[in-house]
Amino acid sequence: MFKKILAASLIGFTTLTSFTPAKQKIRLVIDASHGNDKTGTVSKDDQWESMLALQFAQALEKVAKNHGMEVVMERVSDGAYKTMGDRAPMPIPSEDRKTYFISFHVNNSEKDKNLRGAELKYDATNHFAEESAILAKNIKKNMAPFADPKVDNKENLMVLHNNTVPAVAVIPGYMSNTEEMKRMKDPTFQTKLANAIVTSIEE
Ligand SMILES: [Zn+2]
Repeated sequence: MFKKILAASLIGFTTLTSFTPAKQKIRLVIDASHGNDKTGTVSKDDQWESMLALQFAQALEKVAKNHGMEVVMERVSDGAYKTMGDRAPMPIPSEDRKTYFISFHVNNSEKDKNLRGAELKYDATNHFAEESAILAKNIKKNMAPFADPKVDNKENLMVLHNNTVPAVAVIPGYMSNTEEMKRMKDPTFQTKLANAIVTSIEE
């Protein structure tokens, strides 16, 4: 008897949900690049790209969750390294999820400590180039008031080229530039950047 009631209510539930399409929820995959023994680029005072990338990723995780997004962290500590091939998410067959991928990197120049500027990358040859371009355009617009980034769409990052969802790499500045390094380590800047990215995704 119990089983019958349960079965009936399950059928009722399925019928009901199939007629009430939910608002498409956003799933954000956040890639704090490098990690573990892969430091990425290293500054003269031994700051690692992987450490900064993790801080940007965690700031974005916080803001995205506050906005009701489902967050998937590619790396949550310095000891959780994934190979580049593992990072790009497989297509997720989900009608109620729109997935985006944000990867954080940091620039560094051994030769020129005056080099500066934020950068955004997407891959114009990727299947999702059009959507990635829109996302990059939005991020550029929302970052402009505090760190006007240039946009590069050449095929140069495997994690963007092989990705299966719209994907943008965010490179907030140069570690070799004292002023930019100071700014990148500032939690206020990290939150500002996270807000700009989340707003861009929601637009
Ligand atoms: Zn990198």
